[in-house]
Amino acid sequence: MIKKLILLIFLFQISVLNASIVEKLPWPEGESFLHFLDHHGMPQSIYWNLDKEDKELCEEIRAGVSYYMMTDDNGSVIEQVLIPINEELQIHLVREAENYRFEMIPVAYQEITDLFALSIERSPYQDIIKATNNRLLAHAFVDAFKNSFDFTRLRKGDRLAVVYKEKLRLGRPYGLPTIEAAMIEKRKKPHYLFRFHDRYYDEKGREVEGFLFRKPVNHVRITSRFTLRRYHPVLKRYRAHLGVDFGGRTGTPIYAAADGRIIFAGRLGGYGNVIKIRHRDGFMTLYAHMHKFRRGMRRGKYVKKGQVIGYIGSTGMSTGPHLHFGLYKNGRPINPLGVIKVTKKTIYGKTRKEFLRYAAIMKEKLQNAVETNACPVRLDDLSRSNMCIDEKTSVGG
Ligand SMILES: [Zn+2]
Repeated sequence: MIKKLILLIFLFQISVLNASIVEKLPWPEGESFLHFLDHHGMPQSIYWNLDKEDKELCEEIRAGVSYYMMTDDNGSVIEQVLIPINEELQIHLVREAENYRFEMIPVAYQEITDLFALSIERSPYQDIIKATNNRLLAHAFVDAFKNSFDFTRLRKGDRLAVVYKEKLRLGRPYGLPTIEAAMIEKRKKPHYLFRFHDRYYDEKGREVEGFLFRKPVNHVRITSRFTLRRYHPVLKRYRAHLGVDFGGRTGTPIYAAADGRIIFAGRLGGYGNVIKIRHRDGFMTLYAHMHKFRRGMRRGKYVKKGQVIGYIGSTGMSTGPHLHFGLYKNGRPINPLGVIKVTKKTIYGKTRKEFLRYAAIMKEKLQNAVETNACPVRLDDLSRSNMCIDEKTSVGG
């Protein structure tokens, strides 16, 4: 009972409770926020009264994501709802008299940094899973190295070391782990990788080429950058911007950022006319507020990198013509500017000095981990706090 109370306070930030029921539910495929309000008998004006940023964010709710709904003790009146829109921010609906208040609030989580080393027995992927029980971490490790390192012909006894960050929510891993620095040996020769300003570099500061996208527009300026969460001091509200905005004249051509297949071409609430393209390696790009699509651009069509798919416009919730460009990896929004080729491949000047200092510190950490055989944290240990929610939990007042 105490645990459940803590959970409710943690999730809903409430201190006084009458009897209530909390359900954890998966967000249905194809459900829009507006539909959701409709299905649950909540006023549609909640959506229509939102400003354009919040309306855009309502299009970011991912199918399958867990949301929480708190009802009164007989389950008939919805008191509060929490719907995550990304790892950092969530929609909070709170009942007030006959209506609901809409607010964006941060998702509470902790972040841990862990460091470990291990000897390769079978493969880096399998060995990391065996040592940590963390499949996503193993995946992130291989992903980070895959463009600069050949995983074949590794020898048993070669070693690897990793510094990574993991978010925890309710004692469970949350979102994707981030590799901050890593080392892998091949026949005892170490290869390093460092994350710096959202990109990966080798020891000499050369960018490790990943899957690179081109800019979706030419000669336009960035009017708004990517942020998972920021606090607006004037509005006193939390905001997020899950893409990059490029300001430009109506009719400016928009290019496919990489080869891929169109999986959506149509209208999408606050985003207006939208094209979504699926690319290899779990990437997806989104182009919003388009004036119109180029002829023939429809679902199922295969497009080449650099091909015109449509034109800049101001459809949906938009104050002026611009392209909102979103990039997603395995369904999660990531910073497009980390993957679009906008800078030189090697870091120069002051930034280089800064990088080399940082890389030296991280390298020492990795070497230490190898020498001391630093053990990883296992996922099972992290999850031991066991504050998970039952499918339907009744809490007496
Ligand atoms: Zn935008």
